[in-house]
Amino acid sequence: MAPQREWFEKDYYKTLGVGEDATAKEITKAYRKLARELHPDKNPGDDAAEERFKEVSAAYDVLGDQERRTEYDEVRRMGPMAGAGGMGAPGGRGGFTFNMGDMQDGGLGDILGNMFGRGARTGGRSGVGPRRGADLETSLTIDFADAARGLTTALHLTTDATCSTCGGSGARPGTAPRVCSNCGGRGMIDDNQGMFSFSSPCPVCQGQGSVIDDPCPTCRGSGIEKRAREVKTRLPAGVRDGQTIRLKGRGAPGRNGGPAGDLLVHITVRPHERFGRKGDDLTVTVPIAFAEAALGGDIEVPTLDGGHVTLRLKPGTQSGSRHRVRGKGIETPRKTGDLIVTVHVEVPRDLNDEQRSAIEELARATTISPRTTT
Ligand SMILES: [Zn+2]
Ligand SMILES: [Zn+2]
Repeated sequence: MAPQREWFEKDYYKTLGVGEDATAKEITKAYRKLARELHPDKNPGDDAAEERFKEVSAAYDVLGDQERRTEYDEVRRMGPMAGAGGMGAPGGRGGFTFNMGDMQDGGLGDILGNMFGRGARTGGRSGVGPRRGADLETSLTIDFADAARGLTTALHLTTDATCSTCGGSGARPGTAPRVCSNCGGRGMIDDNQGMFSFSSPCPVCQGQGSVIDDPCPTCRGSGIEKRAREVKTRLPAGVRDGQTIRLKGRGAPGRNGGPAGDLLVHITVRPHERFGRKGDDLTVTVPIAFAEAALGGDIEVPTLDGGHVTLRLKPGTQSGSRHRVRGKGIETPRKTGDLIVTVHVEVPRDLNDEQRSAIEELARATTISPRTTT
């Protein structure tokens, strides 16, 4: 994966709490410890912990990989200079400045790619070393019960793949792209203004460094074609709404023998009409009769799998009170949650004569008002 814009801004060493000279082993150790502490399963509902968890994961993604760490160090070493004007108007602080037309679309990655001598992203002038494939994103909506149980599913993606006609060069088979004469293949042209040197994408080759005279008919010169792809995956039990699951190595293929990127799956969980969720606990509200609340007794409570469990109510159970049924929540590989039952006392709306007189009898026998405080 190409260096990212965040690399200028984020101190991954600080995030992991290690020194810049930390060994790979120390970095892994620091990461594991933080990941354990901050894991969302351990901190349900704690947004700050989740945010930290993400930061720590992002930091380890880079520092945990020797090749990427080297690049990161390099970027940071030149960071203050690049930051002088590269991200906005020339600030005049540094020795040189970039003027990047379009920061989106890997623009920075390409520029940094050029700095590191790996060439631009076109397949035709493929860079020197192996290059990790891009991370891809997709979204998936699943049912509440599937999220609770875990689910084997197939994700259908349309992804960019190397064009099968031209092998990614973008040129018609039998021809080859030629080096752009305007920029000499760099893809960038410099405009020297005193101590600043502004670089901008070459207008002749659009920053690609090469020109295709006779484009491939399949990909029209891009070197890339869309291909439908199916990724089978097993989602773990207890997946949460809004969670992003990273499937290692299921993203875009790498270049020149580099590893594939990851596939990020954004999960939406459809709400259940009956059950709710709090971490690994399930919640459900069950109506009970006044007599059941007053006298106590066993009631049947539905479980997510369609069955029932018996809940024993004490005499004098209050409306709105919560009762825990152990082990009937979400069963993750790590632990099993509980079922939290909120009981709601139903007050009868239509009384027959017998019921009315029974309640009147109760009213007469009741000497203390609930509003009396003594
Ligand atoms: Zn092609
Ligand atoms: Zn050019």
